[in-house]
Amino acid sequence: MTTGKINVSVENIFPLIKKFLYSDHEIFLRELVSNGTDATLKLKHLISIGEAKVEYGNPIIEIKVDKEGKKIHITDQGLGMTADEVEKYINQVAFSGAEEFLDKYKDSAKDSGIIGHFGLGFYSAFMVAEKVEIITKSYKDEPAAHWTCDGSPEFTLEPADKTSRGTEIILHVAEDSLEFLEDSKISGLLNKYNKFMPIPIKFGTRTETLPKPEDAPEDYINETVETDNIINNPNPAWTKQPSELSDEDYKNFYRELYPMQFEEPLFNIHLNVDYPFNLTGILYFPKLGSDMQIQKDKIQLYQNQVYVTDNVEGIVPEFLTMLKGVIDSPDIPLNVSRSGLQADGAVKKISNYITRKVADKLKALFNENRDDFEQKWNDIKIVLEYGMLSEDKFYEKAGAFVLYPTVDDTYFTLEELKEKLKDNQTDKDGKLVVLYAGNKDAQHSYIETAKAKGYEVLLLDSPIISHLIQKIEGDNKDVTFVRVDSDHIDNLIKKDENTISKLSDQEKETLKTSLEAYIPKAYSVQLEAMDSQAAPFLITQPEFMRRMKEMSQSGGGGMFGMGNMPEMYNLVVNTNSDLASNILNTEDKSTQENLVKQALDLAKLSQNLLKGEELTAFVKRSFDLIK
Ligand code: ADP
Repeated sequence: MTTGKINVSVENIFPLIKKFLYSDHEIFLRELVSNGTDATLKLKHLISIGEAKVEYGNPIIEIKVDKEGKKIHITDQGLGMTADEVEKYINQVAFSGAEEFLDKYKDSAKDSGIIGHFGLGFYSAFMVAEKVEIITKSYKDEPAAHWTCDGSPEFTLEPADKTSRGTEIILHVAEDSLEFLEDSKISGLLNKYNKFMPIPIKFGTRTETLPKPEDAPEDYINETVETDNIINNPNPAWTKQPSELSDEDYKNFYRELYPMQFEEPLFNIHLNVDYPFNLTGILYFPKLGSDMQIQKDKIQLYQNQVYVTDNVEGIVPEFLTMLKGVIDSPDIPLNVSRSGLQADGAVKKISNYITRKVADKLKALFNENRDDFEQKWNDIKIVLEYGMLSEDKFYEKAGAFVLYPTVDDTYFTLEELKEKLKDNQTDKDGKLVVLYAGNKDAQHSYIETAKAKGYEVLLLDSPIISHLIQKIEGDNKDVTFVRVDSDHIDNLIKKDENTISKLSDQEKETLKTSLEAYIPKAYSVQLEAMDSQAAPFLITQPEFMRRMKEMSQSGGGGMFGMGNMPEMYNLVVNTNSDLASNILNTEDKSTQENLVKQALDLAKLSQNLLKGEELTAFVKRSFDLIK
């Protein structure tokens, strides 16, 4: 038997490991199963190049929990190690790696962004074990070796009688980690970290019921057998070529990934590059709608089929973090902080690639089946609109597939919309006027008025729409967006005919004075000569002020502090209406006041602005009027 002292400068590395990685103890299992997987894949490679002349067979990795003995066994059938190799790889490589890691980690301990504590390797075993044994038999014709270490730098190494190839790691679980002796805990961890690892992983057995034979009698009782309980799928969909997969396969994989998710994804994007970086994966567009529910099922990041994290911030462009699915890339540095990650050139390339791929896929979907794309629009628009605002590369491509729906569900691209509006919907400066509504119910009367005049009205109801409109106007100088209730329609859109005013200037002056006597200060009165059929009183909210206010409310970076501004309204009065003449000609002051107030309340009502005390007063006045 050999005993020795592991050559580490820290007197006792293990308390450090425990201390620094306190919150992530559970990753020991991922690390040890990864080592077993590596050992198996290495053997496969050696066999394939003729260096190892042994049978590969059907190797598996097995996890066993011995609750009484307080032990966890992790056994692989990989290439194993000779005693010399244990000296070298465990005592030197593994522990020098441990020191290096701790050095790095100490500095960034406060930066909690280190991804998944990856690359911890073998010594992460000491996060949960007070003693670790390795019993290993190399594929080479050499005796097996038995290494033991109790967490101090001292170890023992002696021959063992193991005859089968591979490595068994035995963890003597420490008193403060006994939770890891629960089957449910272990299967939970395997399911989280190892669900798609490339070598089958066995944890326990399960009872399988055999099918009933053809000639079975009535009272036949199905036979059962005990089979290995393999917890992983070694060939997940993302490792396959898109040509090998059907729509159904993609959907099945989605269910495999998120077993608790019952909603089907809208479509998927298969990622597959190997130069200048290596990345595979499948992203899914879930049904999002406009209410963004708290996201539980997130995009998962893997490295060579080993789960790392579901925090892909910095790797996936922010607007796509609302998607679901998997990305797998060995080229993402994992032992760096989030800020380091964002500065990394390879990661930036990956993020740009994902943006481009998503844009290309959207364009293809739009071109292949526009009807279908239109039907999905409401569920995907929030992601796309956010992408247009946050990623210039995406914005450049978005013109080809981003849609502008009307209140009646006709969908235009921006170019189509421009074509549609150019003859009929321009303002006095010749700009195309894009009329839109933010809410079909609240702006119903305005929508109807605009439609009656033959205008197109869009329905743009995303929470970030005012920001997007602002950006689109900046890039399309020939277009202006105005909400249907931002002014009288005839003021928004140029009309050839000029309506002649029935009232003289003197009469207008008198009317204005009478109106202002009864109308609250929050409204500025605006007299317009319109055709006599138009609404006599109309409340409007000027586009610019409203939009700025919305933008500051939805995170426009404290735009002039407009979030606190009072609402500003115009009261447009049609001087050609019978009501205007009526108000003008009413001598009795209290009758005139009633007329004005009633008309104002009706206008408010149509804009959903009449509430509380005012509404009560309105209802009372109305009853009085019809008494
Ligand atoms: P890493 O796996 O990142 O190289 P580890 O600290 O996990 O670092 O392991 C150090 C070395 O020990 C590995 O590179 C490998 O050579 C050897 N090793 C660890 N576990 C096994 C195993 N189950 N079978 C064979 N060799 C192993």
